[in-house]
Amino acid sequence: MIKDLIIIGSGPAGMTAALYALRANLTVTMIGDIPGGQMNNTLEIENYPGYKLITGPELSDLMFEPLNDYPNFEYVYGNVSSITFDKIHKLECDGETYEAKSIIIASGSTHKHLEVSGEEEFSGKGVSYCAVCDGSFFKNKHVVVVGGGDSALEEALYLSNIVDRVTIVHRRNEFRAQPIYQEKVKNTSNINIKWNTTVESIHGNNSVTHVKLNEEGNIYDFVTDGIFIYVGMIPNSEFVPEEITTNGWIKTNEKMETSINGIYAIGDIREKHLRQITTAVGDGAIAGQEVYNYITKINPNG
Ligand code: NAP
Repeated sequence: MIKDLIIIGSGPAGMTAALYALRANLTVTMIGDIPGGQMNNTLEIENYPGYKLITGPELSDLMFEPLNDYPNFEYVYGNVSSITFDKIHKLECDGETYEAKSIIIASGSTHKHLEVSGEEEFSGKGVSYCAVCDGSFFKNKHVVVVGGGDSALEEALYLSNIVDRVTIVHRRNEFRAQPIYQEKVKNTSNINIKWNTTVESIHGNNSVTHVKLNEEGNIYDFVTDGIFIYVGMIPNSEFVPEEITTNGWIKTNEKMETSINGIYAIGDIREKHLRQITTAVGDGAIAGQEVYNYITKINPNG
């Protein structure tokens, strides 16, 4: 069956686009993993209006549950492997072909790796990209957090409530994170900072025992039980034709339209400056409404 809209990705951007499209009576298939995307891995959200504090899994459920009340909604757990642009767009997902008049790409981004020796070997054995998932394994221990952005500081603060001691290792002498996180880090007694320092390699036996640090040319072993890496994001766009990507990110206009008719991109996968739940939700609302306008135009009699 040809759907009006397929949404690839089930984070806050995709779920908001679905809500708007469903309310406009479009037939919608959403393809994704566990609803919520990266939001699911965030324990405490303090910058989503209306909530002083809400957990990521709670907000994910609150966004996903209402979609299931619409008979025109279908959710598919799956991995999209390719898209073919045509009058009716096609996409392949786990051996099945899906067809739709329009597609919204909302597949988000994934944590970048440091690409140092030992990182892959000790992944899951002390190397982690998700404090919420793995933090409890490090109760009363010492961990290193790498990075100077919002993710690194937010997760360092989260870990500081579980572990004995956190050392943030940052390659420059100032953070790029929002001032509110910088202030909190400064006022947290069990967080230390190593400025102008990079991780050369990660070492251990069955699990991480130490990292080699390079502090302004001075290379030394630094004992730690774990290392949490937050050095930026890479777009989840392997399945997206290169004609609409730049270094993997997708450019859109302010209507979330790509250069291909009926193809939209929203949320973290989009080329933009501020990647937040709030901005993802805004993108989703715009795209949901624009898809409705598009379907009405190509299909004036419904
Ligand atoms: P980011 O803002 O790109 O920060 C990445 C950090 O890693 C930077 O400090 C960067 O250093 C450092 N870095 C990059 N490559 C490195 C390398 N090879 N070795 C060592 N350090 C390296 O990424 P992010 O913190 O994951 O945030 C991604 C987006 O999500 C941002 O737009 C952010 O605002 C948003 N976000 C928002 C919230 C929130 O509002 N609550 C929470 C999390 C994320 P330099 O500073 O020297 O470049």
